[in-house]
Amino acid sequence: MRILLIAGHGQGDPGAVGNGHKEAECTRHFTELLAKHLGWGLDVEVYDTKQDLIQTRNYASLMSYDQIIEIHFNAASNPEAKGCEVLISQDRKANNVDNACLGALGKYFTNRGIKLRDKEGLGNMRQFQAMGIDYRLLELCFISNANDMKVYFENAENIAKDITLALRPLFGFNSEPTSAPEAPTPSPTPTQGGAYAKHYAENGVATFTESCYINVEPKYGANTDTLYNPGESVNYDEVIYNDGYIWVGYTRNNGTRGYIATGKYDSNIKRTESYATFK
Ligand SMILES: [Zn+2]
Repeated sequence: MRILLIAGHGQGDPGAVGNGHKEAECTRHFTELLAKHLGWGLDVEVYDTKQDLIQTRNYASLMSYDQIIEIHFNAASNPEAKGCEVLISQDRKANNVDNACLGALGKYFTNRGIKLRDKEGLGNMRQFQAMGIDYRLLELCFISNANDMKVYFENAENIAKDITLALRPLFGFNSEPTSAPEAPTPSPTPTQGGAYAKHYAENGVATFTESCYINVEPKYGANTDTLYNPGESVNYDEVIYNDGYIWVGYTRNNGTRGYIATGKYDSNIKRTESYATFK
């Protein structure tokens, strides 16, 4: 499953302008945030943010993607117009990916619904529909509405998290296991005998310094349904070095085991990165 995120406008086209903001800058701001969160365990790439796909028409290079999400902000001459929309081609029906994106945006903005667009209306939509790639365009909110933009900037990271949590069950563990996400570099040392590079019991408290997703297995790309925010803590009872990450394991409130990556390790099984402090 290869996912592409596209930031709308750019390359000299500012897009809509409102409340002191240029759409092209806002679309890049959010695309980077979404890539950071959705990219946890999934194969997510961002189309070159120095470019505007409408201008470069670089479609042939994008044939291998399965899912495309393009980010925009809406605008209207009426400053009262507000809310989020998901635009899809009228040649297909709304699917669970479209609905997941809309549902997450609808927690923050007035939900204007799925909007069917004539395929002649939107250049990228027309191309990707013809290429058979599942594509939708998110209008996060109205750049012309002062309150929408206030809500956006106060919640941008949480919006990215909520879209990620809504999409993970669709793109991750529960979807067709066609192409498992590759482990990131540095790649873990092949283990001899044991399933994990290192595994031991330890009781401690991990306090997260970054957003950390809870996986159902101590495995990069395993399914996840929620996350810890920076500053939150977990009491863990197990430490596992696997898939390039150092996981802590604990029993969740629902009785199942949860595993959280707290950093990375190198070929000497030494910690190189940390997303938490420990005591
Ligand atoms: Zn736009």
